[in-house]
Amino acid sequence: MQAYLDCNATTQPLPEVVDAMASCMRERWANPSSVHRAGVEARHAMELAREQVASLLGCTPRAVTFTSGGTEAAQRVILGAIAARPGRPALATSALEHSAVRELAQSLEARGTAVHWLRHRPDGVIDLDALDELLRAHGRSISVLSLMWANNETGVIQPIAEVAARCRAADIVLHTDAVQWVGREPVEWSALGIDALTCSAHKLHGPKGVGAIAMRPGAAIESILPGGPQELGRRAGTENVAGIVGFGVAAQAARAWLAQCTPAAPCRTLITALERAIVATVPGAIVNAAGSPRLWNTSSIAFPGLEAEAILLLLSERGVAASAGAACSSGSLEPSPVLRAMGLPDPVAHGTIRLSVSRLTTADELDHATRVIPECIAKLQRSGMPR
Ligand code: PLP
Repeated sequence: MQAYLDCNATTQPLPEVVDAMASCMRERWANPSSVHRAGVEARHAMELAREQVASLLGCTPRAVTFTSGGTEAAQRVILGAIAARPGRPALATSALEHSAVRELAQSLEARGTAVHWLRHRPDGVIDLDALDELLRAHGRSISVLSLMWANNETGVIQPIAEVAARCRAADIVLHTDAVQWVGREPVEWSALGIDALTCSAHKLHGPKGVGAIAMRPGAAIESILPGGPQELGRRAGTENVAGIVGFGVAAQAARAWLAQCTPAAPCRTLITALERAIVATVPGAIVNAAGSPRLWNTSSIAFPGLEAEAILLLLSERGVAASAGAACSSGSLEPSPVLRAMGLPDPVAHGTIRLSVSRLTTADELDHATRVIPECIAKLQRSGMPR
């Protein structure tokens, strides 16, 4: 039995996504900018996908720009917003962001850009009073505020609508990295009042290497990479048509699921049941950010005194795939910067694993994990594994 509980790292492409991509590569492989018939057909396939993605996001197709993924999408928005308003050279973001945003901010800061790091409460939610203070003091110098909608490690959800209202009043571009949100929760673009939202196909059962920006018309965000007229001049370079087609199919399936999925749908309660079972059977286990608003699919669980890498290897031997913090930081013994920024003590951060499911995770997979995780932890605790 295998249990794949690493859906925040990536999700399995749906069979219909794979089929659509394969047929696109066989039959719609022309350059979508070419004027001949084959090119026009490739363009049509891509424009259908744009409609499907726009429909998932609740925006118009023209608002959607395809990119090579969530990382490029977020960086394009942030750098484009800073470039658009030289008189407002500062950026505001949080230490809890995915490395795609956090490390961009750190590198800008190292090269002289003013970066305001938003204060958050111990539960990982942004402190809105502190944000008000920041905007009063520095609002006029900030071009863009970038805040993720839901955290990839803990699932903690940020109050995006409240932040959007404040950014609007202060004339600051608001970007939200919604990579972990899109496809799992609805997006009501027109009600939200944000300027740019970024997402990634592979987190919603689509292919890797494709993402999208949804941008409010007129938002002060420049194209940062000239070199071609593609994507309405917003992103130069020949489009990844097959990937975009796969993204469209995945977006359509996610939208259909969201339309019929109630807050009490069985898959939404799977992870809570797993958390309860682990906490009840493993002495000392702690659910991080347990009291915060969280995505239904993500659980960050600490086994203080153990090392996450050792837990993950043992779990993998027993058929359970999970992660320690962000996938890109596994392999390193440094605890995740996000858990650190949340103020978790080192033994808790070192012993934290992330379990993340999708709408396709089965009850059998969760049953398997519920049996195996406590056994593995007990084994490691008995062996007195040093950290
Ligand atoms: N933002 C968040 C919150 C993520 O979880 C990820 C991927 O894990 C990214 C951005 C980067 O997306 P991509 O892998 O498509 O570049």
